[in-house]
Amino acid sequence: MTQLTQNDIESIENKLREHQQVLLEEVRNELDERENQHLAAIMGNDPGDSCDISLADVLADLNIVRVDRQINELREIEAKLAQTRESNLNECIDCGREIGLQRLLAYPTAMRCVSCQERHEQMYAHEGRPSL
Ligand SMILES: [Zn+2]
Repeated sequence: MTQLTQNDIESIENKLREHQQVLLEEVRNELDERENQHLAAIMGNDPGDSCDISLADVLADLNIVRVDRQINELREIEAKLAQTRESNLNECIDCGREIGLQRLLAYPTAMRCVSCQERHEQMYAHEGRPSL
């Protein structure tokens, strides 16, 4: 396995955080004033204790269907950021082989190598599509 340089890790992390900000902005725009205040209260201005709170979990608890897509993506980002801290950023969670740096830069939330991702998508192809 190729060790990612600190630089690589930082650029992936920055991409994740940028995307996180964009998603949160979308969420804010989606929510009406009342929900927004609720969200603001939960997220708080107190960086001390609430650091470990998962924003995606908070949003899911609010049960706001309108922002489902954003919640899913925020979860992916949080999972990937957690992986960043464990420094196995470029390890496929399925087979343990290396996820190429180019793939990670293109898809910063990638958790799997290309072949595992394809298999995963085939297996779960029917998930997440609500039948109306
Ligand atoms: Zn794999």
